Amino acid sequence: MNEKVYLNGRYFERNDALVSVFDRGFLFSDAVYEVTAVIKGFLVDWESHFNRLKNSLKEINLVLEIQEKEMFSIQKKLIDVNKVDEGLVYIQITRGVGHRDFNFEEDHFEPTVVIFTQEKKILNTIRAEKGIKIVTFDEMRWKRRDIKTTQLLASSLAKTEASRRGKDDCWFVEDGFITEGSSSNAFIINDNGEVITRELSPKLLGGITRSSVLEFCEKNNLNFKEGCFTKTEAKNALEAFITSSTNFVVPVIEMDGHKIGKGVVGRYVKEIQKLYLNEIQKRLS
Ligand code: PMP
Repeated sequence: MNEKVYLNGRYFERNDALVSVFDRGFLFSDAVYEVTAVIKGFLVDWESHFNRLKNSLKEINLVLEIQEKEMFSIQKKLIDVNKVDEGLVYIQITRGVGHRDFNFEEDHFEPTVVIFTQEKKILNTIRAEKGIKIVTFDEMRWKRRDIKTTQLLASSLAKTEASRRGKDDCWFVEDGFITEGSSSNAFIINDNGEVITRELSPKLLGGITRSSVLEFCEKNNLNFKEGCFTKTEAKNALEAFITSSTNFVVPVIEMDGHKIGKGVVGRYVKEIQKLYLNEIQKRLS
């Protein structure tokens, strides 16, 4: 595959972009990342992604001298040279390479910065049109899910298990309440047509798509509420959906074998999908 990858200031062919086995990203998952959608060659909500990245770095005490403009232009260059019309750009930042020690203050590290693109269909997918079936699993991730770290093993195992059971994805449950999806935020719509998603806290990632969806609901007078909801409330919801940069707004039509609503994509989710797509087209950068 003829594709460029950015690594520490240089552009490499995909297979030539190599990182040391002593990188803390590899040894400790001592790393954060960000993923931004690309539509028609433009980045969706890049500024918000950059702000979240800065926050993730701060939360793990990783100091990186990199400016928003510089990162933006690296991504644009990769989108250009890799000819990505629709897809994703990933930024992966690790603390760097050094002596293997839990205490990272014992050594000096130069962060490893990797940026790569991925061609992917995000608009008009079968998932978005037909909806997905999910299962629930007990929350098994660490307690700082608000930081976008590369510790994705729990989500990866959960998603694989969901797939083994013939389902598309999973939602995590903690103390009886839904936290979020394996790589998405979880929403339900109750009988009053109110859109509900969990409030921000260390228990879940503050999704950029989540926050845009809430903003567009407000702008268009759709009722919404940020708060906890149980598995039972989700099962009895009128409609449900997930949001992420990798899929935008995707309806959930079944949970743990129970149909949600009529078990088909409902009118509220369709409206939110339409709103989201209309609004983000206006802000492509
Ligand atoms: N929660 C988790 C755990 C995720 O991995 C993601 C995907 N980045 C999201 C929520 C959705 O976030 P965003 O809308 O910013 O992609």
